[in-house]
Amino acid sequence: MGLLFQEQFELDGWNSTDGASRRSFRAGIKAAFIVSQLNRLGQVLCAGCGFAWSDLVLAFNELELEGLSETGTGYAGGVDMGVDHPNNLVLKCFRCIDKAATVGQKAC
Ligand SMILES: [Zn+2]
Repeated sequence: MGLLFQEQFELDGWNSTDGASRRSFRAGIKAAFIVSQLNRLGQVLCAGCGFAWSDLVLAFNELELEGLSETGTGYAGGVDMGVDHPNNLVLKCFRCIDKAATVGQKAC
């Protein structure tokens, strides 16, 4: 008997065509990253520039998940996470993501 069964993770609406399930999945991953990466001072850091947030709500709004590799598909329900797998994601602030967009390459 395995620990993971595909049917255990298939919830109603997971395969919606508007990307809502992927956005919800990534929001959950972001919240888990923010909580799990709290340092001893109760701060969350940007993986790009090291800027620190003490307010978790502000951190949630200003940090975004960025994939180390963006080639491939994202969360598609069940345990099929694709490029949205937590091992492929880092938390970066809007400044680092904007900088990467204007320079045309990944920041930091
Ligand atoms: Zn940053």
